[in-house]
Amino acid sequence: MTSRLVVLGSCGAWPEPGRACSGFLLEHAGFRVVLDLGYGTLPGLLRLLGNTTASGVDALIVTHRHPDHMVDVHGLFRARWFGERDGAAIPLYAAEGVWERLCEFEEGYTEPLSRVFEPHPLPAEKYSVGPFRLESRSLPHFVPNAGVRLSCDEFVLAYTGDTGPSTDLAALAREADLLIAEATDRHQHEGVPPTDTAVRHDLTSAEAGRIAGEAAARKLLLSHFWPGNDRERSRREAAECFSGDVVLADEELEITLP
Ligand SMILES: [Zn+2]
Repeated sequence: MTSRLVVLGSCGAWPEPGRACSGFLLEHAGFRVVLDLGYGTLPGLLRLLGNTTASGVDALIVTHRHPDHMVDVHGLFRARWFGERDGAAIPLYAAEGVWERLCEFEEGYTEPLSRVFEPHPLPAEKYSVGPFRLESRSLPHFVPNAGVRLSCDEFVLAYTGDTGPSTDLAALAREADLLIAEATDRHQHEGVPPTDTAVRHDLTSAEAGRIAGEAAARKLLLSHFWPGNDRERSRREAAECFSGDVVLADEELEITLP
């Protein structure tokens, strides 16, 4: 069976027309892991699963609590609760605040959430997730954000979530076959807040390229583009700093692994 990563959404902050925010489906050895599930990603996930009840999701990883990375987790919850509530609880590996935000949507009535999901904190020492080893690191963002590294015998995949520059990024992505990095590239839009903050909370594609190089990653998938960005410019700026493959995330794009 082919192992693949499918892009569910490629936008940061809010989705462009016809697109969605951050979300990825990783399939390997018959196991399906969803990485983030932001605005508008659920329809694409259900299309890939081929059902309306989200049957076939084996695990869910959510890097942080911003809605462009997790709001459709609540949609997935509804699909399970109304469509297949007696199915096994889905392990949900999530950064601080994600579970609390889901509970807020349920206005205090959280027992159904606990039947649909089995929550586990990120970052954490190490988890075994189906065929993968899941490692995670705290990375700089406005809210707690966990970068993740999924390893199996055949390949390594790393995903930054949203992050400012950090020396931990190269370690997270060390010799990864695929590094999924955010490339918000706010500099393409003069005056987009908060460019004036002292602490950086997101990356440029050039920085993502440099990190991929330092990590000796094999392939870099740029994602989380600010709506309206010139994505080809992002590709060029990353490629100037990284000699490996640079790929632009695009809805429904599939990458075969390793
Ligand atoms: Zn984001």
